[in-house]
Amino acid sequence: MQYSFNQNRRKLVVKLLALTAVLLVLGGCFPSNDLARQEYLMQGNTMGTTYNIKVVGENIDSVKLQQGIDEKLKQLNQEMSTYINDSELSTFNQSSSLAPVSVSPGLARVLKEAIRLGKLSEGALDVTVGPLVNLWGFGPEYRPETVPSDELLAQTKARVGLDKLVFEQGMLSKSIPNLYVDLSTIAKGYGVDLVAEFIEANGINNYLVEIGGEMRLKGFKHTGELWHVAIEKPLTNERAVHQIIIPKDNAVATSGDYRIYFEADGQRFSHIIDPKIGKPINHKLVSVTVIHPSSMTADGLSTAMMVMGEEKALAFAEENDLAVYIIAKTDHGFVEQSTVKFMQYLK
Ligand code: ADP
Ligand code: MG
Repeated sequence: MQYSFNQNRRKLVVKLLALTAVLLVLGGCFPSNDLARQEYLMQGNTMGTTYNIKVVGENIDSVKLQQGIDEKLKQLNQEMSTYINDSELSTFNQSSSLAPVSVSPGLARVLKEAIRLGKLSEGALDVTVGPLVNLWGFGPEYRPETVPSDELLAQTKARVGLDKLVFEQGMLSKSIPNLYVDLSTIAKGYGVDLVAEFIEANGINNYLVEIGGEMRLKGFKHTGELWHVAIEKPLTNERAVHQIIIPKDNAVATSGDYRIYFEADGQRFSHIIDPKIGKPINHKLVSVTVIHPSSMTADGLSTAMMVMGEEKALAFAEENDLAVYIIAKTDHGFVEQSTVKFMQYLK
């Protein structure tokens, strides 16, 4: 079985992950003939994309659960969506004041992780990259579909940098008036974590949460099998399974640039920007998949490594003991590589 995702939204098109039903019955987990255990499916829309959530248990009031989930997601959007004009983050972005402001706990949590991952990746992940994203036409602003001039690029680059964003003791400030913070690279992952935590708080320990391709799993399916996830083949016009993984109680995130891009003069421009050069990434790395307990962390790390490129990404993954699987394009087709830590999850 594969989910069909909402493909309308260019920016948030799901890249790689689809679920597959695979027959693997495990001893020791709950019995597959336990008829009281049911699987409840909840689907909806958030962050310009879709969500698919499955919970497994007995007598779950999934209608009430979904209402709670929708409330959480609505709050998240009101805190950090750059598509909502009066969201907390949009209000911060629109303000030219350099005075520190207090932020909601949700926004604080995402900002803290964004800054941590920014430092860890030496600036490959940079949530102030928004003006460059917009310049290259991938943000909420008008999409030019042309290559910007060097002058405009230099001007825009001057507005970007994590050093211009200060978050201390719960207070957020900027050192230049027109700093623009775009959390879209980890917001979906955070949403997945938030929903997973809410589900667990409701006493449910077997679930799958997926928002726009970001995924987190725990426990077992109603049949007693472990959750399986398929990494898609890196094709722009087709969906096919490339590799099946069993992530266990973890999140899975994939960053890939082969679905979201524009072309100019025969060159492809990715929606992921290399903050160092201010331009869309342009290398042989087609996708990076990360398995990590936190969906937000996996989400951010996968994008960061996508920026780094193949060699640096693999070195970074080994250095930081990460479970990472990459697909690179070569003259002889696609080549996969995974870190030692990832291998345990390969089916
Ligand atoms: P992917 O899943 O392919 O990594 P995401 O949707 O998670 O893509 O993140 C890409 C989005 O993040 C872009 O559309 C853009 O808004 C923003 N972005 C682009 N480059 C960077 C970067 N280097 N650091 C942080 N955010 C970025
Ligand atoms: Mg990402």
